[in-house]
Amino acid sequence: MTDVWAVVTNAPRGGVRYDHVSVEPPDDADLILKPLYTGICGTDRGIVSGSLPFSYNPRGYNFLVLGHESVCTVVESKNERFVKGDIVVPVVRRPGGCVNCRIGRPDNCSDGDKHEAGITGLHGFMRTEFAEKSEFVVPVKNRTIGRLAVLTEPLKNVVKAFEVFEIISKRSVYHKQDSTLTGKTCCVIGTGAEAFLYGLVAKSLGFNVILTNRHPVTDYKTKMLESFDLEFINYSEDFDRSFSSGIDLLIDTSGDPGTILKFTKRLNYNGIAILFGTNGRAKPSTITGIDIDYIVERNITLAGSVDAAKVHYYRALDYLEEWSFTIPEIGNMITGEYDPNNVKIFTQKGPGEIKSIIRWGNAP
Ligand SMILES: [Zn+2]
Repeated sequence: MTDVWAVVTNAPRGGVRYDHVSVEPPDDADLILKPLYTGICGTDRGIVSGSLPFSYNPRGYNFLVLGHESVCTVVESKNERFVKGDIVVPVVRRPGGCVNCRIGRPDNCSDGDKHEAGITGLHGFMRTEFAEKSEFVVPVKNRTIGRLAVLTEPLKNVVKAFEVFEIISKRSVYHKQDSTLTGKTCCVIGTGAEAFLYGLVAKSLGFNVILTNRHPVTDYKTKMLESFDLEFINYSEDFDRSFSSGIDLLIDTSGDPGTILKFTKRLNYNGIAILFGTNGRAKPSTITGIDIDYIVERNITLAGSVDAAKVHYYRALDYLEEWSFTIPEIGNMITGEYDPNNVKIFTQKGPGEIKSIIRWGNAP
């Protein structure tokens, strides 16, 4: 058993405390890691508030260590690929026994028998140190990206969703006549950290990108959107005119059925909607025969996309490295650094929050 300080909850009941706990290291772990930074997201807050019934403690424990967004330093290695001082990002989802899990794609698990660090049956990364198997970490080769590496985990979800987009878009000629996506419109519902990352990747692929929400955004976010060259529309003001020219790719980070349906009916022929956000407490919405007709007659695809595989973590790190040069304002997405014992951040968003992170004692 290893004694550590950790941010813990009791899943699925909720609650949060910074506590001294004992955790059994995994069999055949060959690395000891210490976190530098861990990110906080809606999933962590959902677990803490007790609103994610699918979350559960690891077997034999009456607590769950939180944290699935992390960048760590290696403090001990029994693996020749890693040395003390290396920077790594541990992966969230761990394979079960199904065929997709066994080929390294637990993100596409076909029987649900996988685990997710800090969420479902596996301790997370918000602890002073932990033992890890090297097969479940991705090296951060370019150290100059610094704390930006904490965005690897949320960004890898976006990379995977665009892989889903690539596959679906092949069913018809989706690109423009000049073979690019320039001028195609991607609309992202939401203005949180994931929405910004979706916007940035869509922009880099050539889409004209609009982030949208039912309320205005802060001046800080307006400046961020400008620096990222992303448009914003407050759809509660003028929905009809704003989206009159149609949407080619819709990405939802809200999980709200009424909003998703409203925007789905702005999709162009062969349009694609990728659903990423979830909200079990969202108000129900009615889908009519006319709605189904709209979707069928236009060959519209609605696709869910969850998590990502190791390959997407690597690509996410490539994006972060590139953006750290081309869009240095990306660093402004991290809007607050907190100490591990300051657990109030799990029940109350930081001021002007886009991404709040915890800075551990080992950070430079
Ligand atoms: Zn599986």
